[in-house]
Amino acid sequence: MSDRYQTILLFGAPGAGKGTQGVLLGSIPGFFHMSTGDMFRTLDHHSEIGKLFNQYSSKGELVPDEVTIRMWREYVHAQTVLSLYKSREDLLCLDGIPRTVAQTKAMQEHIEVRGIVHLVATDPEEMVARLQKRAIEQKRADDAKIDVIRNRLDVYERETRPVLDQFDPSLIHEVNAIGTPAEVLGSVLRVLAPIQASMRSTVSS
Ligand code: ADP
Repeated sequence: MSDRYQTILLFGAPGAGKGTQGVLLGSIPGFFHMSTGDMFRTLDHHSEIGKLFNQYSSKGELVPDEVTIRMWREYVHAQTVLSLYKSREDLLCLDGIPRTVAQTKAMQEHIEVRGIVHLVATDPEEMVARLQKRAIEQKRADDAKIDVIRNRLDVYERETRPVLDQFDPSLIHEVNAIGTPAEVLGSVLRVLAPIQASMRSTVSS
């Protein structure tokens, strides 16, 4: 097995349900969920980097690549040192990163992507409705304004969707994002359980 982190990517537009699926997966032994949105939101809002994050996210823009990659590397390192993420045993489930082609290239030497779950929702209005519901539930400023939501969807199409072209198509698994969290989780696990099982057999051999 390579020294790179064995990784799967949760991929999809804002509102597709990456975060919901990530949290569910993270509760299953052997899966470690890491969300860069959560990473940024836990920053002290008065710190330099916290202010930078607010500046971008409140407009629905991405944080610059260099800062994002640096923060992500420090974050993984911290979780590893604390033994929360056990890189030899756990499948790392990345939610929200890489989000640009430049991030994908910068992460190549650190992660080995074993599969990509692409959550696909065919109804854009459903996604917008989910984001607006989340704005109320989680008090997220970036979900509250309709023009910010639209900008995030545009940024996704322009900057993030091209990330998929960086990978071998055989790694990409499309999963229907419409359904209850349990139904979607069922489909996600049908993709990921075999990947996790193959990783475990590599670790134990
Ligand atoms: P969603 O999944 O709904 O788009 P996230 O919680 O993943 O929202 O991200 C919230 C915000 O955090 C993004 O709009 C962006 O400003 C910032 N962010 C998260 N991940 C990244 C990343 N990989 N690169 C740049 N900015 C990011």
